[in-house]
Amino acid sequence: MSVFNNEAYDHHEQVAFSADRHSGLRAIIAVHNTSLGPAVGGCRMFPYASEADALFDVLRLSRSMTYKSALAALPFGGGKSVIIGDPRTDKTPALLAAMGDFINSLGGRYVAAEDSGTGVADIKAMSARTPHVSGLQEGAEFGGDPSPSTAYGVYLGIRTAVHYRLGADSMRGLRVAIQGLGSVGFHLAGMLRGDGAEVYGADVNRDNLRRAVDAHGVVAVDVADILTLEADVLAPCAMGAVLNNESIDQLRVGIVAGAANNQLADEGQASHLWDRGILYCPDFLINAGGIIDVHHQRLGSELSQKREHIERIETNLQEILYRSDRAGRSPHLVAEELAEEYLAAATEETAFRAAAF
Ligand code: NAD
Repeated sequence: MSVFNNEAYDHHEQVAFSADRHSGLRAIIAVHNTSLGPAVGGCRMFPYASEADALFDVLRLSRSMTYKSALAALPFGGGKSVIIGDPRTDKTPALLAAMGDFINSLGGRYVAAEDSGTGVADIKAMSARTPHVSGLQEGAEFGGDPSPSTAYGVYLGIRTAVHYRLGADSMRGLRVAIQGLGSVGFHLAGMLRGDGAEVYGADVNRDNLRRAVDAHGVVAVDVADILTLEADVLAPCAMGAVLNNESIDQLRVGIVAGAANNQLADEGQASHLWDRGILYCPDFLINAGGIIDVHHQRLGSELSQKREHIERIETNLQEILYRSDRAGRSPHLVAEELAEEYLAAATEETAFRAAAF
């Protein structure tokens, strides 16, 4: 298993592996880029079929975090960690302590937050061994769990795309299909319903599906049918890589805008969506609400400051859609180029400061 020749390796600054005999921890931390600050990103726990799958995932996810923070104007770099294991059966206090030690060993270059398979309680457990964690504050509307903020950013992304593509000022009467009604999907469904949308949802977890049906009047759809449902918007809010050659050919929506990280199975799918005339909102742009929330938790900001910052997702997306139309290229590629411009500017400024000494 090679790191440097891995298809997802992109000049990552550091990739660290840990195997702890006592707790059974097997984990990888990838620090992609720290030009703008310490690499902040979630700690995912998933029963990967192989170490190679875990490595591929952490390399791709950490790169997206770099772009996400750069576009959201956050003083963070991009990083991510993965624990190989089943969060329902393999999570023990010893394993979380060992993960805390592993994070600590990077001395603050990587700061962990919750992600799929880990929750605020797990991050709290890790914090007994390292200060380099985030997302722990309790609060009312935007508390330690950043999911409501992520959902808010995705909701704004959907509204912006709908306005851009359909000229509509609200979601009234529009059909949105949500794949995954977990932490983000549930809140997103509520926001869309509040704005008059008809929301269709699917989840492999029947309890999560029922919760969304009962609380928000989501119309339940079979898991196998959600990606091919005829609707105005598809919001993937489950796992990554759902947009591949086959699934894109079967889509019956004009807009794809969701929370899941790395929705594109590979970079080529951005052009595939573009060629099919489907407006794809880059995931790392519109799902930044959570990390923006984490940033403001660290600062102890007012709720209004958090909100205002998350709402910049709207103007950022408008700018990217405009540039994309002008360039005749996918918004995903345009957003990556813009993020690269910000990183290059930050690197230049650092070099300039160093030379001035
Ligand atoms: P979650 O684990 O709470 O919810 C995911 C839901 O998807 C679960 O209910 C799960 O049962 C369901 N699911 C899994 N596979 C499915 C399938 N094939 N079909 C239908 N449903 C399926 O996770 P979350 O926190 O809501 O995050 C959702 C996605 O958004 C993830 O990809 C995550 O990485 C990304 N994301 C989350 C945040 C955040 O703040 N939580 C921030 C940025 C990105």
